[in-house]
Amino acid sequence: QAKQQNVPYRFFEAHMGAALALRLDMTKRLAAALADGALSLHFQPQVDLTTLRLTGAEVLCRWHDPELGTVSPAEFIPLAEERGMIVPLGNWVIDATCRQLAAWQAEGLVVPGQLAINVASRQFDDNQLIDTLQHSCAKHGIAASQLGLELTESGFMSDPDQAIAMTEALKRLGFGLSIDDFGTGYSSLAYLKRFAADKIKIDMSFVADMLESDNDHAIVTTIIAMARTLQMETVAEGVETAEQAEALLALGCQQAQGYYFGQPLTGEAFAKQWLTPMLV
Ligand code: C2E
Ligand code: CA
Ligand code: CA
Ligand code: CA
Repeated sequence: QAKQQNVPYRFFEAHMGAALALRLDMTKRLAAALADGALSLHFQPQVDLTTLRLTGAEVLCRWHDPELGTVSPAEFIPLAEERGMIVPLGNWVIDATCRQLAAWQAEGLVVPGQLAINVASRQFDDNQLIDTLQHSCAKHGIAASQLGLELTESGFMSDPDQAIAMTEALKRLGFGLSIDDFGTGYSSLAYLKRFAADKIKIDMSFVADMLESDNDHAIVTTIIAMARTLQMETVAEGVETAEQAEALLALGCQQAQGYYFGQPLTGEAFAKQWLTPMLV
């Protein structure tokens, strides 16, 4: 406490002021980016670890600001959540994903499996999510089964009963459901069983260290075994090396995503590299 009193107050205040001004500026810029179409989507392949074929892709939002440069979603998604912009931003992502799928379809390109959209907890609590999804699908001629939704464990925890009802409604409509960043949250097995998810995404922090750390290896082994018991598929995230891919396959993990298989790409680059024309 004595130490704190010695901190030059004016310096501290000026410093905080600058940080706050920057955040306010970022907030304004993000709102403008959303309105002006300055956000874009990237697509990262997900592959079957046995056949190495494409099983789908994750949709990742990008923001390019003329002055700030490329802002990471790790930075602007939390900002959007805090500033009440995540629902409109998330709605934009849903609509833009459907629009991209429709454009590929018009070119005779098919995405095997699903495009997986990240859904923030705040969006998941919102009853309008289902309307938004259905509206965008109908508008662009997309089937629910072409989309997956990635939810984190925290999305289930604020109101588990509501979340269970929501996941059941989404499943009935045909949307896919994955639990994202699995292992980093607090879900109990009892809840996990009730969330009708199809896939568990093993968080990349465990994958990164699974060959060096016995603990992380044990965690990955346990997650895969548990998923199998609950009849869910596993997707390993952040796979960067052949050795990791081999170890995951040996443990029975079905799918993977990561720089070793492919970076997130613009729609155009993704189509060129990963999509093949329909043979009809
Ligand atoms: P996430 O859902 O866990 O997405 C995976 C992140 O890992 C992505 O970062 C991806 O580019 C990165 N990644 C993929 N492969 C590798 C790899 O091999 N090694 C490493 N080190 N990283 C890899 P990105 O695109 O920066 O997105 C960060 C986070 O922002 C996402 O984490 C997700 O939570 C959030 N996010 C992105 N787009 C959206 C969105 O449209 N809506 C919402 N609500 N959140 C989003
Ligand atoms: Ca994700
Ligand atoms: Ca993740
Ligand atoms: Ca994450």
